[in-house]
Amino acid sequence: MSSSENIRKTAIVTGAGQGIGRAIALRLAQDGMNVVINDISQATADLVAEEIRTIGVESVGIKADVSIRAEVDAMVSRVVKKFGRLDVMVSNAGIHQVKPALETTEEDVDKLFNVNYKGVLFCAQAAAMQMIQQGGGKIINAASIAAHAGFPLQSTYCATKFAVRGLTQSLAKELGPYGVTVNAYCPGIVGGPMWDVLDEEIGKVMGLAKGEALKKATEMVALGRVQTPEEVAKFVSFLASSDSDYMTGQSPLMDGGLIMI
Ligand code: NAD
Repeated sequence: MSSSENIRKTAIVTGAGQGIGRAIALRLAQDGMNVVINDISQATADLVAEEIRTIGVESVGIKADVSIRAEVDAMVSRVVKKFGRLDVMVSNAGIHQVKPALETTEEDVDKLFNVNYKGVLFCAQAAAMQMIQQGGGKIINAASIAAHAGFPLQSTYCATKFAVRGLTQSLAKELGPYGVTVNAYCPGIVGGPMWDVLDEEIGKVMGLAKGEALKKATEMVALGRVQTPEEVAKFVSFLASSDSDYMTGQSPLMDGGLIMI
C-alpha cells in the first residue's frame, strides 16, 4: 500500500507467463501491488494470476501480443477501467534468436524488432498517456547485457536491446517533466526457458554437447554462476519503488560481473 496516497498501486508485467516476468510479477505482488499478468498465452497468464491472488492482492491474466499496438492499447484501457490507475509498466516480453549475422534475413529482423522494440515502445506510449494524467508513474523496460555489448550469433537480438536502451534514454527525457521515470534492467545469464533454448541452439552451431554452451558462458561471469529470475525481480522491485524516484534514463548492468565497463 502506498503510504503517501493510501492506495494500492497497479502494475502490468508483460511476458509474465514464465521466466523473469513471472518472478517480477510475484515480487511486485509481495511488495503490495495489484499485478496484471500479460502474455501471448492466456493459459499461462491465468496460472500466474491465480498464484498471485494467493498473496492477497488482485491479479488478472490478459492475453495481448505486445507487438500489436491495438492489443496493447486495449489491455491498458481494460486495466485502467478495472483498477482506476496504472503506476508501473514493466515491458518484459522479449524473444531471442541464435543466427550468424551474415545469414540474418529481413524477416528475422522484423520479427525480433516487432516484439523487443515495438512492444516496448507501444507499452510505454499507452502507459505514459495514463501516467501523465495521474501525475506520475514508472516505466521499466527489459534490456540485457546485449544492450551494452555485442555477442556472436546474436546480432539482431543485441540490436533490439541497444535500441531499447536508446529508447529508455529518450523517453526519460521526454517524460521527466510529467513525473514519469523510465529505466531498464540488464540481466546477464538467467537460468530458465530462454537459456535452455539458447544453450541448445548455440551448441548446435558450435558443435557443443547439451549444457556446454551455458557452461562456457557462465565461466565469463565473475560470480561464477547463473542468475536467478528472483535476483532480476529484486532489482525491478527497486525500480518500481519510491526508492528509485531520482533515477531515470538508466540501463544498469546486473549480470554477476560478466561485463564491466
Ligand atoms: P522467456 O522466453 O522465458 O519468457 C518470455 C515470455 O514472454 C514468455 O512467457 C512468452 O510467451 C512471452 N512473450 C513472447 N512474445 C510475446 C509477445 N509478443 N507479447 C506478449 N508476450 C510475449 O524469457 P525470459 O528469460 O524470462 O526473458 C524475459 C526478458 O528478459 C526478455 O525481454 C529477455 O530478452 C530479457 N533477458 C533475458 C535474459 C536471460 O538470460 N533469460 C538475459 C537478459 C535479458
